[in-house]
Amino acid sequence: MSKTALATNNLEAFWMPFTANRQFKKNPRLFVGAKDMHYTTADGRQVLDGTAGLWCCNAGHGRPKITEAVQRQVAEMDYAPAFQMGHPAAFELAARLTALMPSPLDHVFFTNSGSESVETALKMAIAYHRVRGEGARTRLIGRERGYHGVNFGGISVGGIVANRKHFGTLLGGVDHIRHTHDLERNAYSRGQPESGAEYAEELIRVVQLHDPSTIAAVIVEPVAGSTGVLIPPKGYLERLRQICDQHGILLIFDEVITGFGRLGSPFAVDHFGVTPDLVTTAKGITNGVIPMGAVFCTSDIHEAFMTGPEHLIEFFHGYTYSGHPVACAAGLGTLDTYEEEGLLTRGAELEDYWADALHSLKGTRHVIDIRNIGLIGAIELEPIAGEPTKRAFSAFLKAYDAGVLIRTTGDIIALSPPLIIEKSQIDQIVSTLREVLQSLD
Ligand code: PMP
Repeated sequence: MSKTALATNNLEAFWMPFTANRQFKKNPRLFVGAKDMHYTTADGRQVLDGTAGLWCCNAGHGRPKITEAVQRQVAEMDYAPAFQMGHPAAFELAARLTALMPSPLDHVFFTNSGSESVETALKMAIAYHRVRGEGARTRLIGRERGYHGVNFGGISVGGIVANRKHFGTLLGGVDHIRHTHDLERNAYSRGQPESGAEYAEELIRVVQLHDPSTIAAVIVEPVAGSTGVLIPPKGYLERLRQICDQHGILLIFDEVITGFGRLGSPFAVDHFGVTPDLVTTAKGITNGVIPMGAVFCTSDIHEAFMTGPEHLIEFFHGYTYSGHPVACAAGLGTLDTYEEEGLLTRGAELEDYWADALHSLKGTRHVIDIRNIGLIGAIELEPIAGEPTKRAFSAFLKAYDAGVLIRTTGDIIALSPPLIIEKSQIDQIVSTLREVLQSLD
């Protein structure tokens, strides 16, 4: 049986994540191959990847160094217990990752996904305060419209209503400050918007409401992605850092999408020049080839755990697959690829071209905002009255038919192509979008 026939005959059993399953199964979209900037569909078409998979295939697809590293590792040693045992690739990857981060973010804890990284960082923050004798610091602060994965900690600090409202009471002791989206003042901004640093002041209100000595950590995405690309106003992240410092609160950057060159620098930490206490990452860590995530922490946090009795486990947390040998091999092959091809800074080289191309869509039918940073872009559409999300989703379907993969969230088109993209391919994304948007109701 051909790959296509096999796939289309077996659509029932698999309950697909974050998917309109009934709609999908009437008209399935199946990929069967991927190379460099393109996916191959089950019916043999080439689709240009405008989203790096799900923000993860930063070096594009089918990259030989990564494939070979994975194949070699599976053959050599498929698995090693993650607890009380080690293997060299995990130590090597941790050392190479921390070399990409500014000091003092000198330690790394491995997980298997962005969601697990978030849970790990939240737990690490609370346990850190406790181990230093500040056990009352248990409260967490997130933001409206924030996305921090789908586990209970992540949806509790997250602020996307649809991800929260179905799942009960969530974690207690969580507050949210306002998001930074401000279309009235910042529409069509390029890079960081000029207005809105003062939204950080809300943090002071929440901190004072509860008393600072009860607050463990604030978590934000430096650039919010899944909620539709919200770029921090100039001065905003710096102000969050100041307020956290004044009150002994840890600052967590969720860099699951902004890590590994997406903004034109290795991490958002470098791009914005603001150093948090903890950084969560995943996705681009292995170019999406093998599931993996990681949490970076400062030497202060690490030291606080390392001062207890030597024979004791310092942090009662971990996953069977933390630092999985095959994931570590994929991570090392990925870092080799990024570094040899200069991909961690390529976004900065392409940023102006990317911004000009996207902003050329201003004035196209239905468009109410365009924003960009690094190799991220968003095109916000006027929603159809009473049918939010419908217009952008129609754009997604039409673009797919026209050979370009985009992603939508609400009525926002989010773009994040692999960092190997050529200028002609940027042009293709934009010209396809122009036609698609003109043709939409
Ligand atoms: N945090 C952020 C900022 C993300 O964008 C995502 C995924 N889009 C996650 C966490 C969750 O990652 P995963 O889907 O790997 O669990």
